[in-house]
Amino acid sequence: TLSSPKDRLASLRAELEHRNPAQPEFHQAAREVLDSLASVFAARPEYAQAAIVERLCEPERQIIFRVPWQDDHGAVHVNRGFRVEFNSALGPYKGGLRFHPSVNLGVVKFLGFEQIFKNALTGLGIGGGKGGSDFDPHGRSDDEVMRFCQSFMTELHRHIGEHTDVPAGDIGVGAREIGYLFGQYRRVTNRWEAGVLTGKGQNWGGSAIRTQATGYGSVLFAAEMLKPRGEDLEGQAAVVSGSGNVAIYTIEKLLRSGAHPLTCSDSAGYVVDEKGIDLELLKQVKEVERARLSEYAARRGASARHVAGGRVWDVPADLAFPSATQNELGEQDAVTLVRNGVKAVSEGANMPTTPEAVRVFQEAGVAFGPGKAANAGGVAVSALEMRQNAARDSWAADRVEAELATIMRDIHQVCHETAERYGAPGDYVTGANIAGFERVADAMLAQGLV
Ligand code: GLU
Repeated sequence: TLSSPKDRLASLRAELEHRNPAQPEFHQAAREVLDSLASVFAARPEYAQAAIVERLCEPERQIIFRVPWQDDHGAVHVNRGFRVEFNSALGPYKGGLRFHPSVNLGVVKFLGFEQIFKNALTGLGIGGGKGGSDFDPHGRSDDEVMRFCQSFMTELHRHIGEHTDVPAGDIGVGAREIGYLFGQYRRVTNRWEAGVLTGKGQNWGGSAIRTQATGYGSVLFAAEMLKPRGEDLEGQAAVVSGSGNVAIYTIEKLLRSGAHPLTCSDSAGYVVDEKGIDLELLKQVKEVERARLSEYAARRGASARHVAGGRVWDVPADLAFPSATQNELGEQDAVTLVRNGVKAVSEGANMPTTPEAVRVFQEAGVAFGPGKAANAGGVAVSALEMRQNAARDSWAADRVEAELATIMRDIHQVCHETAERYGAPGDYVTGANIAGFERVADAMLAQGLV
């Protein structure tokens, strides 16, 4: 109890790594938050007294289950399902489901941990959770995906509910999967419980702008970071990675803001388009045909080329939007971006920038928006979807979009102010971590030892 905040945080970190072996992504996400907290601990000894960090780092509940399913040829497959219910001090557990072969307990825990603070920053009364499966939807038929989703929900349904835990999409889980999951939930529970899942279709309880929200929000956050520097998005060249819904709607919002998005990527490589990405063609290839990006380059003509295996960070730009997956932007990439004059980086994906790369940006004075602030627009509109469901209401798109813009401005503001208050002006990582932490920690203190 007499140790300094720094020593205490170092021993917390060692203990966390010891208790959770072989979960490198979770260690990375936890370390980043813990590293921001020394000054908070010095100012608020009651947090240590109540073991807030020890409790925060241990999920309230972790569910791991078998997901058996049959493919179109009758062969049986077994995947593993996860739901980590991390923290419910501020509201029901909330966070997406990820279907990707890289999913394991450590990945789900890193995502759930991030979600706690992100959701706190939205100010909308949602706790943190995450789930998913190592199922690979790539190359599977609609029927196979449906059978997988039904089997997944046959187990998951007993753990979720509008007041308990509200899943949504993430990588590999979009409108199609949410539809199959909701159908099975409704069937096995015999309840029309709209608020149990978000990201639903708009004619059966979904919210306008949910699909666009993460990407739009990430661009709004970048615009807020540019303001104090006396700049806006107009005319800025941008590199975007990924080609899922976050990347696509980042590109859409950049185009509407007068910026020039030059790139997007998938696991096979990237596309660079000197005239700026053709949004309609990109949507046709990725959303309608579910095809590879090489298809975009093949149809676009002379302005675009496909680079097999490369990284978009080699393309010079004013702004960078990592919007694919964790640890996709490393130290060397950051050095390249800085050398090419990047001014701001806004994380559309969760933890896409390695800690070494974050340091490079911050030392170079680049405005860096961490995912738990910059990509909070998605889960924020999910919370607005829950609000519409609770009221049996449906809001027009312009209303949702206006609320999203206000929420992103408020998140930027609280991160900015908190960073200044703790002596780290312009450091959005510190600002987001402390502001999110304080909201959750104060709720936990008030609610006693649970
Ligand atoms: N998967 C998204 C995220 O990382 C959204 C979660 C949700 O809407 O619940 O925040």
